[in-house]
Amino acid sequence: MAALSPTSPVALIGAGTMGAGIAQVAATAGHPVLLYDADIDAIKRALDAVTGHLNRAIEKGRMDAGEAEAIRTRIAPVATLEELAPAGLVIEAVVENAEIKVGLFKQLEEILDANAILASNTSSLSITELAAPLARPPRLAGMHFFNPAPVMALVEVIQGLETDPAIAAILVDTAAAWGKSPVLCKSSPGSIVNRIARPFNNEAIRLLDEGATDVFTLDAVMREAGGFRMGPGQLMDLVGVDLNWDVANAMHDSFFKDPRFRPSRIQAEMVAAGHHGRKTGRGWYDYAEGAEAPAPQTAPQADPPSKVTVRGDLGPANALIDRLEAAGVKIARTDGPEGHLRIDGHILAPTDGRMATERAAGPEGPDLALFDLALDFGVATRIAVAVADQANPATRTATAGLFQAAGIAVSFIDDTPALLLTRTVCLLTNFATDAMMQGVTDAAGIDTAMLKGLNYPRGPLAWADALGAARIVTVLDNLQRLYGDDRYRATPLMRRHGWSGRPFHD
Ligand code: NAD
Repeated sequence: MAALSPTSPVALIGAGTMGAGIAQVAATAGHPVLLYDADIDAIKRALDAVTGHLNRAIEKGRMDAGEAEAIRTRIAPVATLEELAPAGLVIEAVVENAEIKVGLFKQLEEILDANAILASNTSSLSITELAAPLARPPRLAGMHFFNPAPVMALVEVIQGLETDPAIAAILVDTAAAWGKSPVLCKSSPGSIVNRIARPFNNEAIRLLDEGATDVFTLDAVMREAGGFRMGPGQLMDLVGVDLNWDVANAMHDSFFKDPRFRPSRIQAEMVAAGHHGRKTGRGWYDYAEGAEAPAPQTAPQADPPSKVTVRGDLGPANALIDRLEAAGVKIARTDGPEGHLRIDGHILAPTDGRMATERAAGPEGPDLALFDLALDFGVATRIAVAVADQANPATRTATAGLFQAAGIAVSFIDDTPALLLTRTVCLLTNFATDAMMQGVTDAAGIDTAMLKGLNYPRGPLAWADALGAARIVTVLDNLQRLYGDDRYRATPLMRRHGWSGRPFHD
């Protein structure tokens, strides 16, 4: 299947944030672009935005002035829908309102050639539902770009129940020809990214609601241990706490109140109070003039251990041992069923989803601390740790000293099942397998989407392969047991990979 010919005009309806960006992408790929908006001023703003973007590209040496001028002149503003008649592809990026979008598509069917392709940039509406009232439902597909469209590589090409697979294939090839990373997916709420990313914010809010830690520490752990560019608090403040609340509720409703998608009350309180993030000057952070974000909880400097005994296999945390050895800490090794570190009588173990206090009541004994996951223990600069209620205060000091010796800051948090990053990653991977089971897209598509659409440090299924599905199932089973909440139920697909040991990626 071939991409749309670059000589074929592409029309953009809606010259807002997304329409302007997509117009620039299509024009950069060489298409004549027709730009329409009900508001003439929006078109002017869009053209200014494109010019500004191109000027910045010239300044950075990524484009010469002639090239930028050619791109800019390929975008022609039009005043009526009738002028879109020559378009081979029309992408609508108007307000998120099904009635308005369907109304436009119906008018376009009267104006365009019968072979023209219709695409919607909708974030949340069903492509199947948008297509149903049309004369030619097979010719409509979703083409979901991410903001800012000229920068973000992902395009979700969404196939409704009636979409002609050949049309979807043309859009995939077209997006690729435009330099994007397209992922084909089935029409379902939130498509790939907006569905699988839910726990990144939702679970963070639940953790904050329960007082596991404060938002500044949570964000720091997600960045410094997890490799995410921003923590959930920072991200929600950027996107809008209110917008995130609307999406969270819409997704919860779309999945028939599945507890996996259930939002938390504190977010409703924040929305009611007007703490909507950067745009209102206050969200999870305070943006008032001169306000500074409080520092994350960080344990004071403690003495390094003279000797550490490593028992068994620490799994993803094995790289920690190399860092300790490089720092001059003497390491002894013993065999054992579960991996842990021992400093004198204190035990430090990776979390398996049980609380430290529960485990300390068992054979591991009272002086127990559990540590969180890191994307890469070879480079992480912070780790979250929970200490059992029964532990001697010296367990904290010994734990801090050990991680600090390896160059890792310690954030002690309340004794919380699966801590912060382990919990988030296990839920992201579980959501990924749920989407995969429902045929939204395949493993490669899921990881590409999360890497290119949200700049995740690792695709969730690659992360599942690195951890092993069996380990994830153990964490999820412990969460489900401790909360008595089906929110944490592992998918049958995750269990299957846990039993077989088969990775998600070959
Ligand atoms: P926006 O508010 O910036 O722009 C929408 C534009 O549509 C406005 O200029 C408005 O004048 C115009 N418009 C409204 N009704 C119209 C009509 N009947 N005919 C012609 N023009 C009309 O919105 P946006 O953020 O660019 O979002 C547009 C679409 O893209 C929505 O469906 C949204 O869900 C989706 N989307 C947004 C983002 C994002 O981050 N903003 C990301 C991906 C997808």
